[in-house]
Amino acid sequence: MTIKKTQIDAHKSAKIVSEARKQQELRDQSYRGQALKMYPWICGRCAREFTHVNLSELTVHHRNHNHDDNPPDGSNWELLCLYCHDNEHQRYEETRFGNAKAAASNATAGSHNPFANLKDLMNKK
Ligand SMILES: [Zn+2]
Ligand SMILES: [Zn+2]
Repeated sequence: MTIKKTQIDAHKSAKIVSEARKQQELRDQSYRGQALKMYPWICGRCAREFTHVNLSELTVHHRNHNHDDNPPDGSNWELLCLYCHDNEHQRYEETRFGNAKAAASNATAGSHNPFANLKDLMNKK
């Protein structure tokens, strides 16, 4: 009965996934709930206002981009609408990857010269 076995496995992994998701949601809800209590329901970028009807589009952003950094005074939280939140993260990623790219090209330039010398030596032979 391979079908039955697959079903059990699928059920099992679905359960694990939903458990993990639940944990994540609980953690999210804890700071989200606090942030929503603490701040007015307005996007910090575009000043769009939110009500219970569209509150799911208002997200809690971590100013230092560390989701585990949740000081109870709310100093690391900022309420942003989905669009502004997306924007904020895109900008952050660009800065991060921009720096990484620069560092990588520096490393390549540094290791390039020895080989050029080697080629000269070989040509002289
Ligand atoms: Zn916004
Ligand atoms: Zn964020």
